[in-house]
Amino acid sequence: MESLFDSAEGGEDRERRLEELARQVSVCTKCDLAKSRTNTVFATGDPYSPLMLVGEGPGENEDATGLPFVGRAGKLLDDILAAVDLTRQQIYLTNVVKCRAAVEEGGRLKNRQPKTTEIRACNPYLQGQIEAVKPEIILCLGGPAAKTIIDKDFRITKDRGTWYERDGIKTMATFHPAYVLRQRGDDLNNAKRLVWKDIQNVYAEYRKAMEARES
Ligand code: SF4
Repeated sequence: MESLFDSAEGGEDRERRLEELARQVSVCTKCDLAKSRTNTVFATGDPYSPLMLVGEGPGENEDATGLPFVGRAGKLLDDILAAVDLTRQQIYLTNVVKCRAAVEEGGRLKNRQPKTTEIRACNPYLQGQIEAVKPEIILCLGGPAAKTIIDKDFRITKDRGTWYERDGIKTMATFHPAYVLRQRGDDLNNAKRLVWKDIQNVYAEYRKAMEARES
């Protein structure tokens, strides 16, 4: 793949690489999502973390603020991280697409899943982030992230919670917090239980990575 860092001098400094990528994203018109966005949403968190979380794309709140995972899904993500004593400042958090995918319904825009063509157009930015951050562990949040990073035929209900290795990175997928919030009754309890189990497995790998860095 052609490097997106060719224009970043030397390409040695990861923060400068990420700033250059964010600048490119902020003016990107490579797919139609550019037409309706308010803000691009690049990433948040620690670019030196061993753990990267990748969600689907900005929703209404994220489009309005330019920040990933705000609103109810963001609050649930914070709770999931807090269950293993992590905060979003300790991880690197981004999405597969950097602009909101929405459809007009009843006179207002509603969030929708990004199309394959949109994910494909945006993928070089995600790959650039992975290249710059060099995470040791990636947790995909939801099917679109898992299909992009792990396998195009990934089935989130069947394949979540399993470790895969992608380019030397330990990679797992779990349910997206917004999916969990849409569940009711036993389905809600079951989805929460599985996500909590997955984050504990991810945290065990995060601890190992941190201990290896500290030794
Ligand atoms: S979603 Fe990605 S590829 Fe499409 S316009 Fe936004 S930054 Fe560019």
